[in-house]
Order: sequence, then structure tokens, then C-alpha cells
Amino acid sequence: MGLSALVLSGVLAFVNPKAPAPKAKNVILMIGDGMGLTQISYGLLTSTERMNFERFRVMGLSRTSSSNHKITDSAAGATALSIGKKTYNGAIGVDENGLPQKTILEIAAEKGKATGMVATCVITHATPGSFIAHQSSREKYEAIAGDFMTKDITLFIGGGLDHFNKRKDSVDLTAKLKANGYEVITDMKELWNYQGAKKVAALVAPKHLKSMQEGRGDFLPRASQLAIQNLDKNKSGFFLMIEGSQIDWGGHANDAEYIRQELMDFDAAIGKVLDFAEKDGNTLVIVTADHETGGFALSGNEDDKKQNAVIPAFTTKSHTATAVPVFAYGPGAEEFMGIYQNNSIFDKMMKAFGF
Ligand code: MG
Ligand code: ZN
Repeated sequence: MGLSALVLSGVLAFVNPKAPAPKAKNVILMIGDGMGLTQISYGLLTSTERMNFERFRVMGLSRTSSSNHKITDSAAGATALSIGKKTYNGAIGVDENGLPQKTILEIAAEKGKATGMVATCVITHATPGSFIAHQSSREKYEAIAGDFMTKDITLFIGGGLDHFNKRKDSVDLTAKLKANGYEVITDMKELWNYQGAKKVAALVAPKHLKSMQEGRGDFLPRASQLAIQNLDKNKSGFFLMIEGSQIDWGGHANDAEYIRQELMDFDAAIGKVLDFAEKDGNTLVIVTADHETGGFALSGNEDDKKQNAVIPAFTTKSHTATAVPVFAYGPGAEEFMGIYQNNSIFDKMMKAFGF
């Protein structure tokens, strides 16, 4: 570099200082399974109060196709987010060649972060499973449960106790968890009262948790808040994945009311997360989906001149190829503007962490 170029670059650096990107101490990734824009719109249309979704200012769109299908499943959708690579439908934490790849949760643990997951399904299901397990198929629930023995996870709260202690191989993984230093909690009341400092394995249902319609109550917002309080004790920060698992099931069932109640519950969890992030100032919050489910539409009645009646409709009982919204708040949030592939959400979270 000549002298003039050196001076020029110095001047440019002075007038256009490239401020270092703000780093996030904590990252909270919230996944509304099967939550497309219509699902959110239905909440906005039917809610009498302002939704927590409306607190975000930064939004983008995620393209959800998997490596081998235009229409992804939840395993490939979550794995794209967890390992940063598109993979085949059904894959849990492995790339398209079936090779295990480190997940953002595992990387965060390596770097000294506390890590956690909260879900309203079995914790061994495709979405949470993809953040800790490495299995060729989402159907291998008991093997996925086995991958929770890696000790990389500080806290997990969900259903699926049966996959840990009523297994075909008769191994009691809850005993292993205890040996690994976890407080194993199988009762909801015990969970809400837990004050100890141990790692937490809360398996509060033998299988999936109830739906909102069946009376799940405030489990998700409450468990999200509890997880944050627990993980925030770690001075080096944390990574937390929270899943609204059953929005997807409302889509599969073509049941608009199921979707609405699960979406509003997820929104309440978003409220708890944003309350923390706003106070904390060092937390990046991402809210997105793995894919849309149901081809959900909010159509009108063509004979209704006022066009005021909204009639929920569905085009499929399965997933669709539509892009899904991404909402971001906190340090590094601007990176989430625009249209991008789902797996680049991993890169953006890693960048925010400074990894
Ligand atoms: Mg899921
Ligand atoms: Zn689904």
C-alpha cells in the first residue's frame, strides 16, 4: 500500500469508523412450529389486546426448504437452525450425508454458556431433539433421549419422561441424569418450586404436554421465565431454545381454534422473553418458525358485501413451502432483516454471540 492509499484508508476509517458489531451475551431462539404469517395474523385479528409480536421492529423472511424437499419437515427445519446447514427431511442434528454436526447449543456450551430448552411436546421430538441429538431419523426417540446424556445442556423442560425411563432397552436414563448432576423433576409443582442450583431435567409429562384446549394453562410462559432465571445465573451468558410445539398440530388438524390458542400461548411466552431482554440489554431474541402448516388462509365470504367475516380455511393437512417470518430484538437484530435461507439464521446467531 502506498503512502497516499495508507493516508486515505486512515481518513476513511476515521470518517467511517466501522464500529464493532454489538455482541449478545445471551441468545434466545423461539420457534413456533408450523407458525406462518397467517397463524400470526389470526392472532392479531382475534386478539382484543396488543400482542407481544407487535413489540418487534426488526423483521425478515426465512426460506424453509430442506436439502432434498421444497417442503421441509420439522427435523430438517430445526436442524438448519441448529447446525447452519440444510439437511434431509427427518434428520436430527446431522448434515445431508448423515454426519453429525455441532449444534449452536453444543457450541455455546463449549464456550462456557449455560444452555437450555423448553417445549410443549416430548423433549425428544424433532425440534428440541435437533439442538442436542445427532440421529439419522426423528423417529429414534429413545436414541435422541440418550443424546441428552452428553451433559452439554444445563436445563430442559418438556414432556417425554417415557423415552427416558420406559425404554425398550430397560435403561433408566433418569438415574443417569441424576448421576450427571441433574435434578430430575417429573412433577409440575415441584418444578415451579425448585430453588436449587443443580442442572434441571424437567420431564413433566410421560408423553406430550396437553394442548391449551385440554388445559395446559400457563406452562410455556412460566417455564420460559423459569428457564431464563435459572440460566441467567451463569456469568458467561446462555443459549435458550423455546418451542411453541403445538401450533403445528393445530395446522395438521386444520383446527383454527387449536392454532389460535397455541399461538396466543406462544405470544405470552414471547412477552416474558422480551420483558427480560429489554431489561437485560445484552440478549438477542429471535422468534421464527421451521415452516408453515396447513396452508392456513383467512378468507372472506364472497357474498358478504362488507367483507367483514373472516373464515379460516386450509389447503392441506401437511406443511407448506411458504416463507416464514423472523422477528428479532437486541444486539445483532439488524442482521435478521431481509429474505434469506433458514440455515443462515444459525450464522447470524453465531455472529451475534461473537463465535
Ligand atoms: Mg416441533
Ligand atoms: Zn408438522
